[in-house]
Amino acid sequence: MVDSACPLDCPDACSLAVTVQHGKIIALDGSHRSPTTDGFICAKVRKFGDRVYGPDRLLHPGIRKGRKGEGRFERATWDDALEHIVERMKHATATDGAESILPYSYGGSNGLMTQDNFDAMLWRRLGTSRLARTLCAAPTGTANMALYGKMASVVYEDYPEARMIILWGVNPTTSGIHLVPYVRDAQKRGATLVVIDPRSTQLARAADIHLAVKPGTDVVVALAVHRFLFAHGFANEDFLHAHTHHWQQLRERAEEWTIEKAAALAGIDAAPLERVARLYAESSPALIRCGWGLERNRNGGNAAMAILSLPSVGGKFGVRGGGYSMSNSASWDIDRTPWIGAPEPRTRIINMNHLGRTLIEERKPPVNVLFVYNCNPAATVPDQNRVIDGLKREDLFTVVFDQVMTDTALFADVILPATTFLEGYDFAKAYGPIHLELGRPVIDAVGEARSNADVFGELCSRLGFIEPDEPTGELDLLVKVLASLPGTISDDLGNDKPPAPPFGVRPIQFVDVFPNTPDRKVDLFPEALEKSAPLGLYRFQPDPASDRYPLALISPASEHTISSTLGELPRGEVKLLMNPADAQRRGLADNDLVRIFNERGEVHCAVQVLPTIREGTVSLPKGLWRRTTRNGATATALAPDTLTDLGGGACFNDARVEVASLPHA
Ligand code: SF4
Repeated sequence: MVDSACPLDCPDACSLAVTVQHGKIIALDGSHRSPTTDGFICAKVRKFGDRVYGPDRLLHPGIRKGRKGEGRFERATWDDALEHIVERMKHATATDGAESILPYSYGGSNGLMTQDNFDAMLWRRLGTSRLARTLCAAPTGTANMALYGKMASVVYEDYPEARMIILWGVNPTTSGIHLVPYVRDAQKRGATLVVIDPRSTQLARAADIHLAVKPGTDVVVALAVHRFLFAHGFANEDFLHAHTHHWQQLRERAEEWTIEKAAALAGIDAAPLERVARLYAESSPALIRCGWGLERNRNGGNAAMAILSLPSVGGKFGVRGGGYSMSNSASWDIDRTPWIGAPEPRTRIINMNHLGRTLIEERKPPVNVLFVYNCNPAATVPDQNRVIDGLKREDLFTVVFDQVMTDTALFADVILPATTFLEGYDFAKAYGPIHLELGRPVIDAVGEARSNADVFGELCSRLGFIEPDEPTGELDLLVKVLASLPGTISDDLGNDKPPAPPFGVRPIQFVDVFPNTPDRKVDLFPEALEKSAPLGLYRFQPDPASDRYPLALISPASEHTISSTLGELPRGEVKLLMNPADAQRRGLADNDLVRIFNERGEVHCAVQVLPTIREGTVSLPKGLWRRTTRNGATATALAPDTLTDLGGGACFNDARVEVASLPHA
């Protein structure tokens, strides 16, 4: 049995116990080293061995020999593949400048060793275009930063202390599963549970109140609660005067949102919304878990602002189990500057949600080289058809450095095989609980796979950005990271329990931790955000539905993938979830084959008719690979590449569609 940790894009950062026999993984489970893991992990990672040894695994570098998209590659040596890439980068730089190179990465691994180290050094020293990594968490991150400077938030272990919990736009049954036992424990101890989600999830069914709001209306629901607090004397003026700025402006913006008006817009009854507002006002400790589902639309940034400011207005801080939970990823305050070793250049920034239009529209300079790692944009980025059209461009040189033959890798000119987290060192940083785990290699690299640090270090070296005798490998990076971790963390990594940050693993907001803002106060109406949001702060932009495309398509996380990681593995038939009333109106029955379509594209799959989704909303899972639907398109083919009101995030849930029976299927 070997100890390791899971660095995938999930809040929990589990401690793992991996059983290895004759150099091969035969079982993968949770260990008890981390108290929140407590010996169990999700079903997704328990089958991670199927990725490590599966038929899609990339075993050696390859150079394209077929047409783009066919996925035919000729085996190459690492030396030839890297030299080819270096030549193409040099050529692109000489022809159109280094900004014609676009590095493209996201959270395929959230570990400290797999991103923002030698890769960042390479791109910065080359002076490539910069990528705004805003596919997820940008609106909530922007709001959390503006309000609280990303103050550490309530951890899972403190949920049982709460008397009221609101799970808002989050479904821990599929993502961040270790929160569930703590929520159940709180319920057993008498806490009221409220779930706000367009779907009747498992926890919504176990909740005291479920508000199945229309996608995109969370902002007005939260503003109605604000208005209730102010209007009924529940706003905590002592707290507001002592710890906040500009609460009067927030109160003014909330003024128009009566419970009735917000409920009508959100498509829910007014009575349960008023009950939620009153319960929130009167409960202590009261806790809001702000998720990421509510940010994936045109109003996502303002929704996060309105939700995260509720504990300030209600005065819910200062007690264990009271306040809010959001990502704790910034709590460690880790400075990556020493590992990167190069200042960020002022080159152009390309929003990753605009990949399709960036590749196919005329740009100065054009993107000549696309280097993709830690992500699979052909499956995950909005406006899928334009992304694929871009990837087909014959004059585009695409490198994909990944563990498996992804949808994007099929379009590559050069593929490079990457190690998984079980084949190298990494640091798993929890952002639900607060702990840091060292992931150790449990097996040798499979095939000729190499780590991100090794490959980007070598590219730096080949391009002359590192002195010939300067160490550039994975172990060298490990030493650099260990040396720059704050406090005694690096010493504590070898202890029985994962190391704690300086403020402890269970901080109480406004007791142990305070806003990381210049005066440690909360600015409830930041001027910069008021200027950058299209209609200003705490405003609602209308629903993009039309008579032609009346249904809101959402694409929530599922129990099969972590974002799109593991999407290559076999799964049952993918189905569109639809409310019985919507199905009846269209003459559809369970398991019928349907086309889901709008002006951007269409997806063919089966339909599942269930009342667990609200009328007017349909749902397809997030992270699907193209092979999982009948026509090779996924929910991203229907998603616009418009941006959220704050943070430049993706508006996946602004996809408006129609659904019809698939003829001659
Ligand atoms: S994906 Fe999340 S729940 Fe699953 S093993 Fe990794 S950290 Fe744990």
